[in-house]
Amino acid sequence: MDLSFILNHLGEDRENYKFAVAPPVFQSSNFTFRSIEHMRRSLEDELDVPFYSRGCNPTVAILRKKIAALEKAEDCLVMSSGSAAVATTVMSQVKSGDHIICVDKPYSWTNKLIEKLLCRFGVEYTFVDGTNIENIAAARQENTRLLYLESPNSLTFELQDLAACAAFAKRYAITSIIDNSYCSPYFQNPIEFGIDLVVHSATKFIAGHSDLVAGVVCGTKQKIRQIFELEYMTLGGIISAHDAALMIRSLRTLPLRMDRVNQSTQIVVSALQKEAKISKLYYPFVEDSSQWALAKSQMRGAPGLFSIELAAQSIKEVESFCERLRYFLPACSWGGHESLYFPMCVLHQSENYSETTLPWNFIRFYVGLEDPELLLQDIRTSLSYLL
Ligand SMILES: *Cc1c(COP(=O)(O)O)cnc(C)c1O
Repeated sequence: MDLSFILNHLGEDRENYKFAVAPPVFQSSNFTFRSIEHMRRSLEDELDVPFYSRGCNPTVAILRKKIAALEKAEDCLVMSSGSAAVATTVMSQVKSGDHIICVDKPYSWTNKLIEKLLCRFGVEYTFVDGTNIENIAAARQENTRLLYLESPNSLTFELQDLAACAAFAKRYAITSIIDNSYCSPYFQNPIEFGIDLVVHSATKFIAGHSDLVAGVVCGTKQKIRQIFELEYMTLGGIISAHDAALMIRSLRTLPLRMDRVNQSTQIVVSALQKEAKISKLYYPFVEDSSQWALAKSQMRGAPGLFSIELAAQSIKEVESFCERLRYFLPACSWGGHESLYFPMCVLHQSENYSETTLPWNFIRFYVGLEDPELLLQDIRTSLSYLL
């Protein structure tokens, strides 16, 4: 389906709301009916017919159609956060006694879900280095039911071979899930490689303006309906109609934002590759990376995120470098209009994060919509103060 049509028209039944160009926010918890028969029929299809807004809300329904089409999926559910989408989706695929294979160091709260929460319900897990399919295959047990991927990871950007992972999962009737937040549906569509379910933190690129928190899961009609009927409706992590309307607004400019961020990131990263004061640079699209060919074959872009290890002598020096940055703001998250950085040294002197494995001189950057030359200059100026 044509991208312009998806973003500008798909799902928008304008005749039903006085031909308004922008869809209305259906700020209603419940819906009423012409007759009892009408009510009965509506209740039979709570996923697609407005009955109660925890099930179907018309503003959210428009958004569902667009995101499913963007991910080349049959259907999707939109949720109140990326973590809600991950937890709801993972829980929908496992039961007590099952085993999950998950890539090493997934998003922190995904890690907690698997390691701390699901194990309370008798779900086993193995974390593996997913850069090689053989590691994944070697982790398989008789009771393996789920393969959880994140390609690329959002701090160090390891990739998995999506086609090989999907083929492995299919062979053993294992469900495959991928967190596709890094690429957004604009730059990578894992369903085309045979992955079963795609989740996103829509807080990042899909919403794209740092003004809301949301998540999505995409898959076949059958899988999405299964998730809807049990986990989605019982856990109830729904998005509000207002946030859904903001997301529809955001999608209008998804290609513009993604292309800009992608191009700016390439400019900044290629200039920084020559910097002596950066001891290591992490980015999926650098040619000397062992995963360059794989990245090029699966991803149409590598937008926004890159990381560095700063050639600094102390945490104090890293802090001084960071605090001199003017255009990059210190914050978690990414995918919005504004450039950000997250310095790992924030975790290094905090008791809650004693297991942090990334070094104290590691900094994750996000390139936003600002002028890339200004962003580059900002980093260079800060670097120039380093001894
Ligand atoms: C932010 C993030 C999440 C969690 O999403 P929220 O919207 O913050 O709940 C999951 N996965 C990745 C890769 C993320 O960056």
